[in-house]
Amino acid sequence: MKTLDHNLAAAKGYLANYADNLTGHFINGNYVVPEGAETFDNFTPVDNSGLGKVVAGTTADVDQACEAAAAAFVAWKELQGKDRQELLHSLGDKIVERAEEIALVESVDCGQPIKFMQKAAIRGAANFHFFADKAVEAADGLSSHQDEHTNFTVRSPIGPVGIITPWNTPFMLSTWKIAPALAAGCTVVHKPAELSPLSAHILAGISKEAGLPDGVWNMVNGFGETAGKHVSEHPAIKAVALVGDTTTGRHIMRQGADTLKRIHLELGGKNPVVVFDDADFERALDAVVFMIFSLNGQRCTSSSRLIIQSGIKDRFMEALKERIANITVGHPLDPATEIGPLVHSGHLEKVMGYFDIAKEDGAQVAAGGIRLSDLGAGNYVAPTLFSGAKNDMRIAQEEIFGPVLTALEFETEEQALAIANDSQYGLAGYVWTNDSSRGLRMAHGLEVGMVWVNSENNRNLPSPFGGVKSSGIGRDGGDYSFDFYMETKNVCIAHGTHRIPKLGVNQG
Ligand code: NAD
Repeated sequence: MKTLDHNLAAAKGYLANYADNLTGHFINGNYVVPEGAETFDNFTPVDNSGLGKVVAGTTADVDQACEAAAAAFVAWKELQGKDRQELLHSLGDKIVERAEEIALVESVDCGQPIKFMQKAAIRGAANFHFFADKAVEAADGLSSHQDEHTNFTVRSPIGPVGIITPWNTPFMLSTWKIAPALAAGCTVVHKPAELSPLSAHILAGISKEAGLPDGVWNMVNGFGETAGKHVSEHPAIKAVALVGDTTTGRHIMRQGADTLKRIHLELGGKNPVVVFDDADFERALDAVVFMIFSLNGQRCTSSSRLIIQSGIKDRFMEALKERIANITVGHPLDPATEIGPLVHSGHLEKVMGYFDIAKEDGAQVAAGGIRLSDLGAGNYVAPTLFSGAKNDMRIAQEEIFGPVLTALEFETEEQALAIANDSQYGLAGYVWTNDSSRGLRMAHGLEVGMVWVNSENNRNLPSPFGGVKSSGIGRDGGDYSFDFYMETKNVCIAHGTHRIPKLGVNQG
């Protein structure tokens, strides 16, 4: 296994490409740093030192990217599915070739442990391979017969699209949105998160190496309120897909209103994991720990509310505390690290704020609840468990987006469902029970977009991914992605037998 020292040296080598330089945009097939561009600092969460400067994209930069995407759309939409398939497979292959670089750079840029980022880079490649093969069927439609007419539908790409992504797993999420857009025949303007711009920079370059025509893939760095806003307002952009905060989703709906944008929102969550007395104790424990403490808890599908039945509550909480005490927090490049530093000092402050809020509201800190200053100047926080909580407390209602779990007790199935659904969010829900009928009842009752019964978040690329309520609008995955990135046209052909109503004919 590679060591921390090995990874540090390798990351330093890769980062030399970025640390000394400005991270700019990628427009019409070229890396671009506009003359006199304003910049901002990119910090590593490892110790909050600078990783280099990033260009703060302006409306003029976004205009250029959107114009390039619009110009490239004319030819890209006409390309045969099998040609897009080949190009996207090549993109996936090139990601695999550079997976180590992507994983190391991503870890240093956003603090996610290398053990998870290696998989995320490979998952990013899998997204391209999966949608490469879907490209050949993207235009497929459905047929519907009437006695004297036959209807069929065809699909065509909607146009240039804006894709706006967050910082939690930037590489994986960017590929998850961009791959289906390209497979559908759309061109793309990508606006990565300002806190984690580096893997998007690598990815844009890979698109060129893979042979994508200039202008098909464009990327503009910068702030949401300027660059992101202008992408969502630009008339050339026909649809915007956002992965981000619920408040940002509201902004984008407003910003896109004047140009009637099609909008896809994958937003926040406060996902319940309901553990019944009859659950497989060890498997449930493994899943509960994994789904809140992996990826630093900065994960939209993290199960941040443990809803635990009274019969096993004490035993489960004790076992949880034991596990939490053994979780390794440390440098994200250390292969042994299970939790790395939080993405930014501002986010660290936000997460730690909930330690006080929990106590003020009357809950107890059963584990963690402290900053780990002995790990240095980075944004390290101890994995945390709150007990004695009620579902109306802020720690049970608000998305903390860190390695922080709030436990809530229940007696009956009805109570469990009521607690789980008493949330503005509705992204994912997890249920642990050995009673399959109860598992099904809970799956039907939970107000969420995705339910896993007796499982952690298991991804199946053809299955729909997305949330309800304040967790979003729309679904990704398989053909669901094409519903968003494509227009459907109905063609109705008469058999020549039906009676056409006659006007202006003398009835007498
Ligand atoms: P964020 O909403 O602050 O930022 C996301 C992106 O939106 C960034 O690129 C940002 O620059 C941009 N943005 C911000 N304001 C904008 C505006 N007015 N117009 C256009 N773009 C704007 O989110 P974040 O803090 O980067 O990420 C964390 C959030 O993402 C969490 O709420 C998390 O739950 C959510 N998330 C959801 C999913 C999902 O699939 N549902 C997946 C991952 C993360």
